Amino acid sequence: MAIGVLAVQGAFIEHEDVLRSMGVDCFEIRKLSDLDRDMDGLILPGGESTVMGKLMNELGLMEPLRRMIADGMPVFGTCAGMILLAEKISNDDRKHIGTLPVTVLRNAYGRQLGSFSAEDEFVGIGRIPLEFIRAPCVESCGPGVDVLCEHGGRIVAVRYGNQLATAFHPELTGDKSVHEYFLSMAGLL
Ligand code: GLN
Repeated sequence: MAIGVLAVQGAFIEHEDVLRSMGVDCFEIRKLSDLDRDMDGLILPGGESTVMGKLMNELGLMEPLRRMIADGMPVFGTCAGMILLAEKISNDDRKHIGTLPVTVLRNAYGRQLGSFSAEDEFVGIGRIPLEFIRAPCVESCGPGVDVLCEHGGRIVAVRYGNQLATAFHPELTGDKSVHEYFLSMAGLL
């Protein structure tokens, strides 16, 4: 029973620390053979989506991960991870994994002053701390996408079946409730 954490760039260690503090095994995905391990769920961390997307292509990880997610692997994307999952990026021609039927806007809060802390309601959890770092937001959702959190009139967390995505960073706040939500999606809680 373990969660695979994409570890090619970005804030993967922070997710691993949260998982370990919850008693959940995890391992890093850095190359194709890492996908041979038994995996109950996958985390796509924050970082720089363009860099992560490029490395995933170069490492041959993009297509296998896309297929695993399309086949139902529970996945949790935070910030750049949300951008990797999005079917469309309104201010970027790139598409990465593209399995989540939403349109996202990169750097929705501006590039320089786009980092801030806040708090808001998350469906099924209650009020949680929100940490934004040059975050995207969801501009529009396709059918079947549930909005789980809005902040300041913007959609910042969604779920579509096995796919959970947050524009913010739950791994940085000390509040484990969104990770608990994901682990229950993955059948680990
Ligand atoms: N701005 C980054 C991007 O576009 C995301 C930032 C983050 O993951 N903290 O990929």
